[in-house]
Order: sequence, then C-alpha cells, then structure tokens
Amino acid sequence: MTLSRREFLAGNAVAAAAAAAQVAPGAQGATETPLPLSFDPKDPELKYDLLVAGGTVIDPGQRLHARRDVAIKNGQIAAVVESIPKARAAQVIDATGNLVTPGLVDLHCHYYHQVSRIGLPADEMMGLTATTTGVDAGDAGYSSFSGFRHHVIGQSRTRLFAFIHISAIGLTGDPLKVGEMLNIDYADVDSCARAVAENRDVCLGVKVRLSKNVVGQNGIEPLRRAIRAAQIAGPWARVMCHIGNAPVPLAEVLETMRPGDIVTHAYSNAGETNAIVAGGKLLPQALEARRRGVVFDVGHGGGSFDFTIAEPALAQGLAPDTISSDVHSASIQSPGKPLLPWVLSKFLSLGIPLDAVIAKATIEPARIIGRVPGLGTLQVGAPADVAVFRLVEGPVTFVDTNKHERRGTQYLEPIKTIRQGRPFGFPFPDPFTFT
Ligand SMILES: [Zn+2]
Repeated sequence: MTLSRREFLAGNAVAAAAAAAQVAPGAQGATETPLPLSFDPKDPELKYDLLVAGGTVIDPGQRLHARRDVAIKNGQIAAVVESIPKARAAQVIDATGNLVTPGLVDLHCHYYHQVSRIGLPADEMMGLTATTTGVDAGDAGYSSFSGFRHHVIGQSRTRLFAFIHISAIGLTGDPLKVGEMLNIDYADVDSCARAVAENRDVCLGVKVRLSKNVVGQNGIEPLRRAIRAAQIAGPWARVMCHIGNAPVPLAEVLETMRPGDIVTHAYSNAGETNAIVAGGKLLPQALEARRRGVVFDVGHGGGSFDFTIAEPALAQGLAPDTISSDVHSASIQSPGKPLLPWVLSKFLSLGIPLDAVIAKATIEPARIIGRVPGLGTLQVGAPADVAVFRLVEGPVTFVDTNKHERRGTQYLEPIKTIRQGRPFGFPFPDPFTFT
C-alpha cells in the first residue's frame, strides 16, 4: 500500500525509537522477533479461538492502517488479513466501524493496590484504559517489591512490569504527605540494585522522584543513587526520573540522566517553575538529552501535565517518545482524567497524527520494556493483546492538571480489550483461565 503522510510520520516515529533503542540500555530481547507459532498458519482447516472482525487495524509496528480481520489462536495473533470467514472462529467480536489496535502499553501507572496508598487494581481498570501491559512506577522499594511480584503480578490478568524505587519504602503518595526521600538513608544503593537484578524478568530499573517536597534537603543525591543502583544491577537497567518542582535546576537533572533513562512528567509545570520550557523557550538541555537517547515520557497524572508547557515544547521539537497515564487512586479523580485513551486523545488535539499517538502507547513503550517478543504489535505470533476503540467525532473539551482547557474534535473511547486471547467481559472465555 502507499503510505499517506500521516502513516509516513508514524513510521518515522517508530524508526526514531528503533534508532534510540540501539543506544539505550534496557532491551533484553528483540521485540521484532516473533515467538515460535503454536499453530500451523497454512492449515486451511485451522479453527481460530477468537476473531475480531470488520475493524480498521492501526498497528504502527507494522506500518499498518487498513480494514482487517484479526484472528487469534492459542493466545497468539494467528492472522491479520482482509477477510476471514466467521465460521472459522469459536467466538467473534464485531469491530465494524471501530479501530483495532495492539493492547495499550502504559509505561507509568500505579498498580500496587492494597499496599501502595495510591495503587489501583489493574484488571478493574480494563474497561476504562484498554491497557493490557502496565509498568508500575515505583510503588514498591526493595523492602516491599517481593509482595508486588507475588501478590500483584501473579494475580493479575494485566501483564505487569515495574520500576523499583530507590527509597526502601517505595513512593509515598498523597494523602501520605511525607516524602519518601526526606531521609537519604532509605536510598540504599546495594539493596536496591540487588532487588532490581534479582527481578530482571519483570523489573525495568529504578524509580526516583525529584521534587522538593519528596527529597527535602537531599537535592539531586537521590537521582545519583538511583543511577548507581541501576549501573550495579546491569547495563539493561534504566532509571525513570519524575520531574516537577525539582530541587536543582532542571538542566542539571537532564544532564545527569543517561541514554535510555526516562524523564517522566515531561510536560509538568508543578510549582510553576523549573519546567522544560522557560519563558516560552524549550531548554536546550532537553533537546540535547533527547539527542543522547534520554526518553521523554508524558506521565500525565493529577499534577504533571500542562498544555502551556506541552504546546511550546512540541512546537520546538520535543514531542513525547511515550505517552503514559500516571493513573492512580488520586489522579483518576482529577479533572484531567488521566486514563490512557483520554491522554492519547489530548495528544490528538495537540496535532500528533493518530497512528503516531497509538505508536507512543504500544510499540514504543514495548520496545523500552524489551522483554516480550512481538509485544505492542499485531504481527503473527505476537501475544494476542488487542484493544478495540470507537473514534468519537465531535467537539470535546480537555483539561490539564492546571485547569487550562483546550478544545478538540475527536477522542478515543475503549470498547473491548483482549489479553493473551482472552476478552475482558463478553464473550467470556470458557474455560476461564489465563496465563
Ligand atoms: Zn506516578
């Protein structure tokens, strides 16, 4: 097919991410290499478990934007072709008139429910978020990560990964208003590194929050310790650094971060000072950090996304690499509504094309995770994680976390989510098991 300008732009974004991935730590397995197939794709009698029929497939990892049927077998994508007879599938989901994408991959969320004060149960969120893969952003420190691994990851249908906090106690979210890095002794580098290294199958690296109210008099030291812990854990380990009202000039934070490390809350204006845009001008250190391979992530949350920062940043060349929600039990109640499809819709209103927006919440974060072949795509052999959206056309108002309003013309509404071939809700899988 001939690529439209929109698709060409989306492809460029993917190519840029691939180039960045070559210099970045973090990749443990090639996302592009599909799993061995658990079925014979050439068998004309092959009976599929599930068919998602009639939708418009947007799969930026394959530069695909076209009307396609998607067939699933044994938890894998089995076929993505123009038409598949419904009789060949045990169950059919009619996606006519809707968009079909890889299940969303959220690089920044809070899913340590019952332990973290702000943690939400990932599976309960499915109808609102279409998120089949979530990365917990430091709810657990080394003292509590084992519980996340065994009681949350092991019990969730959602595919979960995590950053382990440099603070032993993990992050202390509102309304527990005592910053987790007020006492620097909680940042035990060797203990954090050990927890990260021992859990490298599910842990992507180290989380740190660099805000005045979190670190007190400790300045940039928590970030330095987070980087040291990641270095000890292994060359694949990344640091995810939360910015917003940082205790030192933001330029210094950006210069300290390594290729492959992640700036989250990139468009924060928390404290209304020390943002990546100052006096209308993007910090040169932000573009320099991007050039070195530092990843810029949205992490919208309840206080970390401001249109008056995002607009000039995008205009001056700093679009996000990844779009994440920072959804948690406080932010989800806020007027900005940081549910991932809603956050994606805000970036549509900011002028990023639909295919590129989808890429930034599927293939691009999947490459950063770098542990599951095919994740974030609908290529044959990939895990059968699928989202179905209605693209609602019409006037819509978006609000940021500082109460600025912007008008948009469309938004994504989640309709159906499938994880490893098993739909959430109707049609219920039978037998009801999950991997
Ligand atoms: Zn967060």
